Amino acid sequence: MLTSELIKKEAKAQGADAVGIGSLDRYEGAPRQMDIRQMMPGAKSIVAMAFRHYRGLFRGIEEGTFFTAYSAMGYAGINYIYQPLVLWHVGKLLEDHGHDALPVPNNFPWGNSDGSGRDPEKTAKYNPARSNPVSPDKPAPDVFPHMRIAAYVAGLGEIGYSKMFLTPQFGPRQRLAFILTTAELEPDPVIKPGTLCDKCMDCVKACTFGAIPKHKTVKVHVAGEDIEWADIDMKRCGTGFCGGNSQHNPFAVTDHDKAEFAEDVGRAQRHKLEPVYMYSRALEGASGCVRACMIHLEEQGKLENKFESKFRKKKPWKMPR
Ligand code: SF4
Ligand code: SF4
Repeated sequence: MLTSELIKKEAKAQGADAVGIGSLDRYEGAPRQMDIRQMMPGAKSIVAMAFRHYRGLFRGIEEGTFFTAYSAMGYAGINYIYQPLVLWHVGKLLEDHGHDALPVPNNFPWGNSDGSGRDPEKTAKYNPARSNPVSPDKPAPDVFPHMRIAAYVAGLGEIGYSKMFLTPQFGPRQRLAFILTTAELEPDPVIKPGTLCDKCMDCVKACTFGAIPKHKTVKVHVAGEDIEWADIDMKRCGTGFCGGNSQHNPFAVTDHDKAEFAEDVGRAQRHKLEPVYMYSRALEGASGCVRACMIHLEEQGKLENKFESKFRKKKPWKMPR
């Protein structure tokens, strides 16, 4: 008999680091363009999975000596190789028990090709310049699945002030994927917002491009809980995370790079590290939203993945202006 326990066991055996299961009635009240029930009418449950970034992937950036690993083995390896393989296997288990399964890794280009997929103002709304509903009762394709809300609904963790998804196992150090299924499964409870994030604002202070505002927030109500996170300036993040702040980027910045930094978005500096599956640009090593947050949560003893030594061993490096 197919149970939540069996699915979790299989997902972990295939390589997922954490698994949560939620019932889709928790999406009641979601905006239609972002309601994942529209992706698979009849789906009853969501199986969300976290795939950890090794803490060691950040070590070279923390030292200022080796930058490729986070982009390659982190972003690219997890999104494009690891997640699809695990989702395939777990989806097959669901199908073998007679249930439909719709796998969603973190690499689908459901956003617009102009990069506006990262802007909730644009993705949450019907945009006739992009696509149109096939009938009046449906949203326009593609529905935009908010990965972090999906994972929260499945009880995997909470959305921190930085807007990063935080799990009890790894804090902000993972990537997310999920499967929608018609199977009715025993759900996990959602993790109450504030369980991990204490609004310390370390992410705000350590973000190298001022992308996380201290006072401007987004508020939503999902699965019976109010959730609030910083209204991230995605344009600033798109530049900052590629090394837009020269004090946090030891690579030479050409005029071409400068032009890309000025226009944004996520493409800048891509050739500084050899291109790997569209990702080769996370030069800044998520200074605020991952590293500072992880250090804070580890210091508080809140994370299950324990290490023998502290991550930060000395004052972070900075290039001269
Ligand atoms: S650094 Fe602090 S405020 Fe920011 S997400 Fe982490 S716990 Fe929350
Ligand atoms: S990735 Fe970097 S620039 Fe973007 S929010 Fe995180 S710390 Fe700031």
